[in-house]
Amino acid sequence: MNLLRQTVGSRFQTGKNGTLHEGRASMIALFASVLATLLLGCGGSASDEAFPVIRAVIHHGNASEAKCKAFEEGRICRDPGHWIVEMQGKRFTDPDAMDEFFKKEADLERTEAKDPYMSQRHVVIQAEPGSPWSAVHSVIRPGAKSGIYKFDLIAAKPGEKKETVTFWLFTDTSPELPPIELRLLLRWDPVRGVIRRKFDPGEFVSDDPTQGDRELIQVLETMAEERKADRFLFKIYIDAGPDVPLDAVVHTIELCRKNGFERVSSAHGSRPLTAEPERAK
Ligand SMILES: [Zn+2]
Repeated sequence: MNLLRQTVGSRFQTGKNGTLHEGRASMIALFASVLATLLLGCGGSASDEAFPVIRAVIHHGNASEAKCKAFEEGRICRDPGHWIVEMQGKRFTDPDAMDEFFKKEADLERTEAKDPYMSQRHVVIQAEPGSPWSAVHSVIRPGAKSGIYKFDLIAAKPGEKKETVTFWLFTDTSPELPPIELRLLLRWDPVRGVIRRKFDPGEFVSDDPTQGDRELIQVLETMAEERKADRFLFKIYIDAGPDVPLDAVVHTIELCRKNGFERVSSAHGSRPLTAEPERAK
């Protein structure tokens, strides 16, 4: 399967230390040593939560807060300054205030036996479907920094009922052997006016959303088969550009979840985004 070969055959990244391996030979050598660790330690259930979920609502500022032609005309607004984050009735405009908020919330539920600094606090982010990923990521990132990994996404307008999509970060408390980490890139191309997607490394799939989905599904199915046969283990990180709208990200996460990869996580810049609490002294 060519796309998969391009994707995993030429270059990939291994676990925590981020070592980059080049070439098929090292890939095969590594695969020989990889055991079924991918799905271990990824779980955690929502049922044992002691506190109500933190609800983060992201919406576009009103006309007096953000004069915006694009939004008024029903187009995607890609100006990050126009998007407002609210949690527990409070508006967050200052990243430091968000850091402080999450640190305090995370401290309430550091109950993970394997890693006492990991927090079981659960965050549901409800944002307008056209919210830029930068706004959504502005909530996930400080949460992850304080040790929170349970994030759910809802791409819906205020008051609208939509399905919740699980987007829990990998916590990787102690995998013995590293799985193969792949990025699934989403990038807005302003010249062509489309969102381009690809597994990295690899070729972009078709710009046509339906055909693009088909091509991604082919790769996912092949990866799922490889995993089932214990030959390859994969972790998928969604790497969305800051101006990619949330509904496109959610759609791609769902595609992964429906095609063998229940758990996908978020990338941050050149690295996977993992819940990384500051270790207590
Ligand atoms: Zn706007």
